[in-house]
Amino acid sequence: MRTPLIAGNWKMFKTVQEAVVYAKEFRSFVKDLEDVDIVVAPPFTAVHAVAEAVRNSVIAVAAQNLHWEKEGAFTGEVSAAMVREAGAEYVLVGHSERRQLFGETDQSVNKKIGAALGNDLIPIVCIGETLAEREANRTFDVLDRQIRQGFDGFSAAQVGSLVIAYEPVWAIGTGRVATSQQAQEAHAHIRGRLRSWFNDDAAEQCHILYGGSVKPDNIAELAAQPDVDGALVGGASLDVRAFFEIVTKGRAARQA
Ligand code: PEP
Repeated sequence: MRTPLIAGNWKMFKTVQEAVVYAKEFRSFVKDLEDVDIVVAPPFTAVHAVAEAVRNSVIAVAAQNLHWEKEGAFTGEVSAAMVREAGAEYVLVGHSERRQLFGETDQSVNKKIGAALGNDLIPIVCIGETLAEREANRTFDVLDRQIRQGFDGFSAAQVGSLVIAYEPVWAIGTGRVATSQQAQEAHAHIRGRLRSWFNDDAAEQCHILYGGSVKPDNIAELAAQPDVDGALVGGASLDVRAFFEIVTKGRAARQA
């Protein structure tokens, strides 16, 4: 059985000081929680400080991005080894904001996954369709392309070790959450593709999270779906109490 995973993406919010205050308080909230993996993704500037603040707790830290090269003349970029050394254990790859605003492609996602895996980082690979693509009945085609091109060249064992976040673009930051049926349908499709394009183990081991307007009042129904292994939470993860509520409700729904 896959351990549920709840991850919070803080996007470009929180100074180092704000991030550490949050991390310390959150750590005290979750100290007795078992059977759930918890990840927070602060901005680069706070990765190290948050990793120190949650050291030896159930909370792990993710970076929100990386560059695939080891080092070089890439002003403004940060490598996988750098975020790993700063204390990150996970990294977000291919978030729709990066695809839409910063030109991220399935090819750059592929290279970033390789860099993450090569540096002992677990990639949380974000995929999902736009509203226009859903309305044109192209959701599964888009997911198929993102999986095929993003995961091209990786072994079944590597695919089984990573995390996929299904995040319909129309649900991110909009307050418009996918129904639990829509989420389950997409997750089952993704798992089916992992089974046919990689193998049974990859499909069974890979965590598939739902992301898009997850809140304390909708997590339970989403996380109760058989193929929803947890959530990637944006806006609602910025509030420590709301995120804690999402973690406890998500964990309980997976156990029910
Ligand atoms: C996200 O940033 O990955 C996300 C899902 O955002 P929100 O929860 O705010 O929709």
